This record gives sequence, C-alpha cells and structure tokens, in this order.
Amino acid sequence: MVATHIVESEAPMLDKKLDKELDANNLAEAETTNVDPAKKSTKITSEDIDVYYGDKQALFGINLEILENSVTSLIGPSGCGKSTYLRCINRMNDVIDICRVSGTIKIDGNDIYDPALDVVELRARIGMVFQKPNPFPKSIYDNIAYGPRIHGLTENKAELDELVESSLVKAGLWKEVKDRLAGPGTGLSGGQQQRLCIARAIATKPEVILMDEPCSALDPIATATIEELIDELRTNYTIVIVTHSMQQAARVSQRTAFFHLGKVIEEGDTTQIFTNPQNEKTQDYITGRFG
Ligand code: ADP
Repeated sequence: MVATHIVESEAPMLDKKLDKELDANNLAEAETTNVDPAKKSTKITSEDIDVYYGDKQALFGINLEILENSVTSLIGPSGCGKSTYLRCINRMNDVIDICRVSGTIKIDGNDIYDPALDVVELRARIGMVFQKPNPFPKSIYDNIAYGPRIHGLTENKAELDELVESSLVKAGLWKEVKDRLAGPGTGLSGGQQQRLCIARAIATKPEVILMDEPCSALDPIATATIEELIDELRTNYTIVIVTHSMQQAARVSQRTAFFHLGKVIEEGDTTQIFTNPQNEKTQDYITGRFG
C-alpha cells in the first residue's frame, strides 16, 4: 500500500528507513531474548511507612521493594520492627487499636490501604503463618476447607475435596494425613501442624505468604522440612519471612532486609548482605557483635 505512493527517487530512503526499523526491531527482539529469566519484578512496594503504637514510633520511613516469586528475609535484633512491618503487608495492624500506619504499600501497583479495599479479601490474597502453629480446633479437612468456604472459592464438594488435597500436597503433608482427614488438626506433631497452617494459607489461593518466625517452635528436623517447603513454594508465591536465625535467612532467602531500631539499614541479595554488607551496622549484626 505505502509503496504505491512512492516515487522512484524516494525508494532508497525508504529502504534505509525500513532497514533502520528492522534493526530496531531486531535489537528489541534481542533485548527481549536476552532478558535474564532470573530477574524478578517487584510484587510489593513500601514507601515511607511509619508505624506508631500510641505515642511510640515503631517504624521510621520504611522503603522496601519485595520481588515476586522469591523469598525475602527480614532480619534484625528483637524489637526492631520486623513483625510490625510484616503485619503492615496484610493490614493485620488494623486490628491493634493503638496502632497507626502511614505511608503507602502497593501490591502489583495497587494501594492496599485504599479505603475502598476489602480487607478480608486482601488477607485471603496475602496468607500468614505465625510463630506457633495455630490450627483451628477442627478436623484436618476443615482446617483447610474453612477459608475456601467463607470466600466461596469452590462450587461443590468435589471441588472442595480437590482444593483440600492440592493444598495439602503443596504443603508436603498429603501423604502423612490422607487417611486421617477427619482427625483433629491439633493431634498432629508441631512440624505437621505448621505445614497444616501453610496448607490452610495456600487454600485461599494467595499470591503472597507472610511467615513470622515459622520455625521458632519447631525441632531441627521439622525446621529442615519447612525450609525445604519454603524453597519449593517460592516458584508460585512471593514469600516474606521474619527470622531470628541468620543461618535460616541464608538458607531460604534470595533477598534480605536488615532492620535496626525501626529502620531498614540495608537490603539486597542475601549472598551480598551476608558476605559483603555495605553498612557497618549490618556487618556488626551478622558477625554477632550485637543482637
Ligand atoms: P520484632 O519483630 O523485630 O521483634 P516488633 O515489630 O515485634 O519487633 O516490635 C517493634 C516495636 O513495637 C517494639 O518496641 C515493640 O515493643 C512494639 N510493639 C510491637 N507490637 C506492639 C503492640 N501490639 N502494642 C504496643 N507495642 C508494640
């Protein structure tokens, strides 16, 4: 079509233009092909997060980017604000009367503190696992089915059965409990209970899983099982984990943020934070000089 309007003398110029466009296209294609598949995009962005409990300020201007499909560890001495920050991400601090949060947290670019946002739905999208396994006083089956039921995620019993099974499979617990689904969740061992809680979080199809020292009540063997599970889960979920164990942070996470006195002092690739920290305080903490 374009060619019909071109006089002879214009043809070489057009050829050049087309060549240029082709070059540009090839370059763009090459750039797309060369994109590092390991490079993750940002899932959660926090900007200038301040948190107060009454008059006492617990977090000071937190700016942090959490990458998708990876594990981010929050480390730092006790009382430095790690759990407080974690609870900002699914608005769990809302339930603490004296707690006030300011700043912006966006998940996939959407402000989670938008007053129009349904907080119950948000907490289904952002699952949470606590320090002490806290199964409901219900059967193993009902522990998992509870969330999908209240969020209306399945149409019928067969679908619910399937979701219960797939959640338990993903949490690495199915084989151990498939013959005792009607038994009480509280009858499981500590490590199994924690995997049950992870399965319960997974059942509402979250994108993000927050874990607040999930292994602190577990023995070393149960801890190793949970750590392996965390490593598998990151393929499909963005995970943020508070841990007091630097060894655990080094084993399970790709990114680490070091908190101190309510501030993020340093964050980056876990290997870099542990082998080549840029800040003296990080260095002092990871070498055990305080904390
Ligand atoms: P970390 O997880 O690093 O141990 P936290 O986030 O639990 O730190 O605590 C940070 C600060 O906020 C501490 O001074 C703690 O006492 C205070 N804090 C945490 N939770 C509450 C609460 N529910 N009410 C009052 N103060 C709190």
